Amino acid sequence: MTDTPADEQQPAYRCAHCPRLLRNNELHRQVCRVCEDRATEQVQALPALYRQLETVLQPSRSGGSTGRTPAGRTAPLPVALQPLNLRGPGGIVSMLLGIEQRWRIALDWTYLPQRGGYEPTLDGTTAVIVNNLPWACDQYTDIAADLMLIGSLHTQAVQAVTGERDVRVPVGACPVIREDTGVACAQPLKVSPWASAIRCTGCGTSWRRDEWLWLGAVIRGLPAPVAA
Ligand SMILES: [Zn+2]
Ligand SMILES: [Zn+2]
Repeated sequence: MTDTPADEQQPAYRCAHCPRLLRNNELHRQVCRVCEDRATEQVQALPALYRQLETVLQPSRSGGSTGRTPAGRTAPLPVALQPLNLRGPGGIVSMLLGIEQRWRIALDWTYLPQRGGYEPTLDGTTAVIVNNLPWACDQYTDIAADLMLIGSLHTQAVQAVTGERDVRVPVGACPVIREDTGVACAQPLKVSPWASAIRCTGCGTSWRRDEWLWLGAVIRGLPAPVAA
């Protein structure tokens, strides 16, 4: 619990990474717990995405120039520049090492250890970042820039693996009435086709797949359907 009475809460205490107002028990933090949870998921997903990018980089099995693609797939880029950039120097591994190095300096730790090749290095730096995200989101004053970088790397990797520009589909404006302001959150909601939940980046509310029909009706101001 905090010593600050609720009526003295400064509305200026916003998450440094998203529009959310920090809750009373988050006021000492740099970013909200919603952002911390999302960043943790994104960093944890990067090693697998990195390995999937290798598959994307395999020489095309088709002739290449005919533009013929398997049904249901989007046309691949003539050259897979995106995966190359993400896997090569300056890509995912370098960017994550940069984050780890900045955190090590802030924590007064020793410099980066030698971990070997790209994949052990990626696994090692991912583990350090995931383990220290709670600290960074709590105390590290430059965390917002690193969360943007993590989000960008994750989005680029997902897009490169799936071949989609933006895999997320707009759903509508978040209808949740926020406790702190009394008005609807209104953050644009998006969902990727294989997601198991829609999560609002504004207020952090999430809806499972079996709630999406209901959510869609509420967003459009229609009578909420009864569960089948
Ligand atoms: Zn946030
Ligand atoms: Zn919301």
